[in-house]
Amino acid sequence: MGGTSTADWVRAFRSYLNEMDHYREAVALMEWDLRTGAPRKGVALRSEAIGTLSDEVFRRQTGPQMAEFLDRLEEPSTWAELDPVTQAVVVECRREFERNRRIPAERKRAFVTLTAEAETVWAEAKEQSEFALFAPYLERIVQLEREFAGYWGDSGRRPYDTLLDLYEPGLTTDVVDALFAPLREETVRLLGEIVSSGIRPDVSPLCQTFDIERQRALNARLLRHIGYDFEAGRMDPTVHPFQTTINRYDARITTMFVEDDLRASVFSTIHEGGHALYEQGIHPDLTGTPLATGTSMGMHESQSRFFENMIGRSQAFWVPLYADLQRAFPQLKGLALDAFHAAVNCVEPSLIRIDADEVTYNLHIMLRYELEKALIEGELEVADLPGIWREKMESYLGISPPDDAHGVLQDVHWSGGLFGYFPSYALGNLYAAQLRHALLRDVPSAMDEVASGNLAPVLGWMREHVHQYGKLRTPREILRQATGEDLNGQYLVDYFWEKFTPIYHL
Ligand code: ZN
Repeated sequence: MGGTSTADWVRAFRSYLNEMDHYREAVALMEWDLRTGAPRKGVALRSEAIGTLSDEVFRRQTGPQMAEFLDRLEEPSTWAELDPVTQAVVVECRREFERNRRIPAERKRAFVTLTAEAETVWAEAKEQSEFALFAPYLERIVQLEREFAGYWGDSGRRPYDTLLDLYEPGLTTDVVDALFAPLREETVRLLGEIVSSGIRPDVSPLCQTFDIERQRALNARLLRHIGYDFEAGRMDPTVHPFQTTINRYDARITTMFVEDDLRASVFSTIHEGGHALYEQGIHPDLTGTPLATGTSMGMHESQSRFFENMIGRSQAFWVPLYADLQRAFPQLKGLALDAFHAAVNCVEPSLIRIDADEVTYNLHIMLRYELEKALIEGELEVADLPGIWREKMESYLGISPPDDAHGVLQDVHWSGGLFGYFPSYALGNLYAAQLRHALLRDVPSAMDEVASGNLAPVLGWMREHVHQYGKLRTPREILRQATGEDLNGQYLVDYFWEKFTPIYHL
C-alpha cells in the first residue's frame, strides 16, 4: 500500500481488526453453545472447529500483515496523525503481537497440550482427592510458566510480576504485598470479632425448596432491575455460571439454579450481571477493536463484585423488591427483611473459595497468591503444597481441609496454567470498595435511590467513570480519574466494618 495516505492505512487496519473480531465472535458463540447445552456427541468436532478459528485469530494477530500495519502506523509522522482511539488500538495490538511472538511455536504447543491433559488429570485427582496424581503435571506447568515469564519479561523483572501483568497491566508483587498485608491483618481481626460475637444469622429460611421456574423469573427481574439490557443479551442455565460477550450488543450471562438454596442463583446472577453491565456500557466507538472489553480482570471483577455484594447484598437493594419476593416465595413470609439481609451476609470460615462469604473470600485469594508466587519464584516445591495449604488455612481461617479435594485441588486455575490470575479476584473487591466510596462522595443519595428502586444513579456513575472507557484507559487511570487516588486498601476494610458492625453487633 505504498503511497497511500494515513487515513487509508487506518481504514484498512480497522477493517482487518473487524474481520478478526468476526472470527472471535464465532469462537465466543460456539464456546457459549458448548457450555449451555450443545449435544455431547458433537463436542469433539466442535472443539476442533473452535481450534481452527482460534488459530486463524492467532495468525492474524501475529502474522506479517499485522506487523506491516503496526510498523507503518507507529512511524512518528503517521502516529502524530492518529486519533487517540486508534493510537490505543495500535498499542494494544503491539502488546499482543509481541507477547505472542516471543514464545517459540513449539513451546506454545507444548503448553497447550500439557494444560489440556493436566485439566483432565486434575479433575481425576480431585475426584479421588489424591494430589500426587496431579503433582507431576503441576511441576511441568510451573516450569513452563517460569520459562514463559522469561520470554515475556524484561531482564531483572521478577517472573511473577511478568505473569501478574498479563491479567492486571502494571501490577507488581510489591504493590500486591503492600495491599494484602494490612488487608489480611484487618480481615483476620474482623473475622475474629464476628466469630466471637456469638451471633450467627439463621440461613435456614433460604435453604427451603424454591421452585426453579420461579427462581428463573426472579433472576430475569433482578437483571432488569440492575439495568441489564435483555435486547443486548440473554440469560441461560449452566453448571458453572459465566458471562461472555459475543459482540458489542450481545453480552450474555449464564446462571445456575439450586432448588434448596435461593442464594446460589440470585447472587451468581447479579455477579454475572455486573460483568455484563460493564460490557454493555462500553463506548460504541470502540466496537470492533480489541479495546471493546473490560480494562483488566481486576476491574471486571470489581463490577461483578460491586453489584453482587455492595448493591445486591445491601438492605437498600431489597427494600423495593422484598414484598414481591415474599409473594413469589410464600415460604419467606415469616422472614423479616433485616433477617433476610443478615442471612445473605452470613460470615463463616469455610474451606471452598467459591462458597466463601465477602469477608473470608480475600483470605482464600491471599493464600493462593502466596503459594503461587513462591512456586514461580522457586521458593516452594510442588510436593510441599498440600501441607502448606493446610497450615495457611489454619492460620488465616482457623480451619483445615480434611483432604486435598477440599484443599489444594479445589480450583481448576493452576491446571490451565493460570498463574498470576488469582490476585485479580481480590483486586476486584478492593477496586469495588474504592469506587463505591467515590460514588457515594459524588452522589450521596445513591443508596436512597437504590432503596426506592432507582438504580440509574449508581449505574450511570459506573458508566461514566468506568464502563465507557473499555480498555482505552488502564485500570490505574480509571481509578485515579474516578476516585482521585491510586488503589487504597483501606476503603474495603472500612466498608467491611461499616457493613458488618450492625449485623454482628460488633
Ligand atoms: Zn466474576
